Amino acid sequence: MNQFLQLKKIIDEHNSFLLSTHVNPDADALGSELAFYLILRKLGKKVRVVNHSATPYNLEFMDEEKVIKKFDPAIHENIFNEAEVFILLDLNQAGRIIKMENGFRSFGGIKICIDHHQDPEKVFDLYVGSTDYSATSEIIYGFIKNTGIVEIDYAIALQLYAGIMTDTGSFRFERTSPNIHRIIAELLETGINPTDIYDKIYNQFKSGRVKLLGEALSTIAVDSTGQIAYMVITKESLQRAGAEEADIDGFVNYCLTIQSIRLGILFYELKDGVKISFRSKEQIPVNKLASQFNGGGHINAAGSRLFGVKVDEIKDKIISAAQKYL
Ligand code: 5GP
Ligand code: MN
Repeated sequence: MNQFLQLKKIIDEHNSFLLSTHVNPDADALGSELAFYLILRKLGKKVRVVNHSATPYNLEFMDEEKVIKKFDPAIHENIFNEAEVFILLDLNQAGRIIKMENGFRSFGGIKICIDHHQDPEKVFDLYVGSTDYSATSEIIYGFIKNTGIVEIDYAIALQLYAGIMTDTGSFRFERTSPNIHRIIAELLETGINPTDIYDKIYNQFKSGRVKLLGEALSTIAVDSTGQIAYMVITKESLQRAGAEEADIDGFVNYCLTIQSIRLGILFYELKDGVKISFRSKEQIPVNKLASQFNGGGHINAAGSRLFGVKVDEIKDKIISAAQKYL
């Protein structure tokens, strides 16, 4: 039985589901999660959607009905016992759900992963997806079409469109295939408005984000090879600009807009550590680089979180490690 049919069988045979996605969710994380929620709801299933992080403000429009709850151990202590099936979307390492990780690891029901990243952790009863997909939302599309489980209506199409558009860099990254455009054509037939969705995601930021971008850009430095550019965001710069963590999404890409730069790195100071984002061009596998530092991701976009360290203590080490991949 293929992955999609196995997933359908599990849905047919169970009634209560818990969905979650990764820390700092992006539009593909939320879009795949909410599209899956809508499928299960159409089938009359009991579904809860609980994430470690709050939904970033520019993506709140995707969750109009406020279905997604931010995980709070005091309120949500029973969610793990009450579900028969726990599905993680757009991640494949249980550590990416942070405070919900323990609940996942000790979960007694069926554990499912729907994802398009490399090297899935071997903790799932069913894995659905592969790195061939541009987005987890594209996997959900494939699941619906393959099984005919529901019709793709306006609400589902909106979620899938937002996920695919953002994970393909607005239809310009490598996996932007003819087939992706055929899928998009079908989603647009439902009446969703691409101008409006783009505008909501990318043109409704608070001014603090743009101010922070200015600060971040002013820190850009180029390494000795001339092929790596990096920037640093400190807690102070975040405060000065009046921005929040979710505002940083996308900044690292500016490193790659400089001539001759093939690898970009963003260091972001956390309360208790450092978040690092890596971006690359061509075949430079930043997911391998990230995995040396407790992270992972895709060939051209990856990240890590290191705890108990400061940016200055690790910056040079990370840059030297990155130079080996050029
Ligand atoms: P970003 O730099 O935008 O936060 O993340 C880029 C990609 O890297 C994400 O799509 C995700 O796949 C991966 N990623 C980011 N942070 C982590 C992390 O801490 N651990 C792992 N395994 N992957 C990460
Ligand atoms: Mn994704």
